[in-house]
Amino acid sequence: MPIRQLTETLIDQIAAGEVVERPASVVKELVENALDAGARRIEIVTAGGGKSLIRITDDGCGIPLAELPLAVRRHCTSKMEGGLQGIETLGFRGEALPSIGSVARLSLRSRARGADGAHEILVHGGRQDGPRPAALSGGTAIEVRDLFHAVPARLKFLKSDRAESAAITEVVRRIAIAFPGVRFELTGEDRSPLVLPAVEEAQALERVSAIVGDSFADNAFALDAGREGVFLAGHAGLPSFHRGTAQHQYVYVNGRPVRDRLILSAIRGAYADVMPRDRHPVCVLFLQVDPRDVDVNVHPAKADVRFRDPGLVRGLVVGAIRAELARLSLRGSTEGAE
Ligand code: ADP
Ligand code: MG
Repeated sequence: MPIRQLTETLIDQIAAGEVVERPASVVKELVENALDAGARRIEIVTAGGGKSLIRITDDGCGIPLAELPLAVRRHCTSKMEGGLQGIETLGFRGEALPSIGSVARLSLRSRARGADGAHEILVHGGRQDGPRPAALSGGTAIEVRDLFHAVPARLKFLKSDRAESAAITEVVRRIAIAFPGVRFELTGEDRSPLVLPAVEEAQALERVSAIVGDSFADNAFALDAGREGVFLAGHAGLPSFHRGTAQHQYVYVNGRPVRDRLILSAIRGAYADVMPRDRHPVCVLFLQVDPRDVDVNVHPAKADVRFRDPGLVRGLVVGAIRAELARLSLRGSTEGAE
């Protein structure tokens, strides 16, 4: 067969395979967009484990009418002012909306601040329809229906509605820890609701407790350390407060939830001497790194990062946790001696 250029729709569907693996990845991308838009309230409604419906409403800056067609076009983004060095937003690839539009029925309704009214654009099978006037008082409302109806092979690999709903809840919980000032509401016929009211920055531990569990705050120590421009804050659980899986380790780099092997292994290393090998500590770690010293463009899902100086990051995490553990055991032994 001769070599041919793929159609736009096929290119989007191929890209979609990496960006939207399951309903939870759609929720992650859309919540990230709302946060990048400066939203203070984000409402998420799902049905059928997110396969039949995902609806996300935010009160962010909205999208101007003239930009609506661009928002759903591949490689179009408002977030790449400074190039790949120095990304400060959660999104930057300009792929999520077109990818979703290629594998689902997407409706994007938005009203930019100061605009006369709202407009809606539809994308179905990669084809755009609109924009046309619509009703919305402000912000953006996105509806994704019949996810993967266009790619039955992917649909077959999804888990039960219940499992997909649980994965969506986990995505929202994970991201919500890093944005305590934003109100999140996740509801739907297929789930028990998750409502996280906004809390002040100073009360950020309340948001953590709402997600990790109330007992965490009483069984954790605070972290606050820095080395050569890398800063670590957050809370780590006492050695006695352990879990059967590492699922309760929440790690953020510049506010972005990540699953970073380097940091997870640093956590394991820090607790190696004080916890049974098959148990896992609970922790919420926020790393701040100069955006130029971390590459977030490793995988389309943006959950992997590469540090310019991995040894520095590992040393900081291990050192900070161990120093606190040592202080606690010292205090424990002097208290015991009294
Ligand atoms: P990216 O987030 O990488 O830029 P997306 O495909 O997720 O790519 O979104 C494309 C563009 O659409 C964004 O750059 C942004 O300008 C706009 N956009 C998407 N969602 C929202 C939203 N909820 N509020 C405001 N603008 C949005
Ligand atoms: Mg995005």
